[in-house]
Amino acid sequence: MSRPEVTAYIALGANLGEPAQALRDALRELGSTSGVRLVRASSLYRTAPVDSSGPDYLNAVAEISTTLTAPALLDALQAIEQQAGRERPYRNAPRTLDLDLLLYGQGCIASPRLTVPHPRMSERAFVLVPLVEIAPTLVSPLQLQGVADQAIEPTGQEWASR
Ligand code: ATP
Ligand code: MG
Ligand code: MG
Repeated sequence: MSRPEVTAYIALGANLGEPAQALRDALRELGSTSGVRLVRASSLYRTAPVDSSGPDYLNAVAEISTTLTAPALLDALQAIEQQAGRERPYRNAPRTLDLDLLLYGQGCIASPRLTVPHPRMSERAFVLVPLVEIAPTLVSPLQLQGVADQAIEPTGQEWASR
C-alpha cells in the first residue's frame, strides 16, 4: 500500500563555495529523490549570517509533496548535504549546504534527531521571508515583525542554471 502524500517545506542555505550553484544542485537533487515531488521554490535571497559567520548566505525555501516518512526525508536531505561536501566543524559553522526540514504536514515531531516544526524557524528572516513568498498562510505578520531587523534581500537571480 502506498503512503499518502504529505506537503513539506525545506529550508536551503549555503555560504561557502558556490552557494547559488549549491542551491540549484540541491533543488534538482531534491526533486529527483524517489518519493519526493518538487511543488514550488521561493526566490533566492541573500542574508547576513545569523548566529553564524563568514560570507553572506544564499537562502530559499522549497515546498515538496512526499510519500517519505519524516525520518526518511531527513536521511535524503542529509545525503544531499553530504554530496555537497557539508562539514560540521562546530555548531553554526559556515557551510556549503544546509537543508532543514521546516514543516512536515501537520506533524509535530520530537525525536533525538528530528524536531518538527523546526524549532528556530520563527526566529529567522531567512526562513520566514522565503516561506511567506510561497506559502503566505503559514506565516503571520507578527512573526515577520519579529524578524524585521534582520537584513535580507532577493538576489534577483533565477533558479535555472545558465
Ligand atoms: P539549525 O538547526 O539551528 O538550523 P544547523 O542546520 O546548522 O542548525 P545541522 O548541523 O545541519 O544544524 O544539523 C544538526 C542536527 O539537527 C542534525 O544532525 C539533525 O539530526 C538535527 N535536526 C533536528 N531537527 C531537524 C530538522 N527539522 N531539520 C534538519 N535537521 C534537524
Ligand atoms: Mg539550519
Ligand atoms: Mg541543518
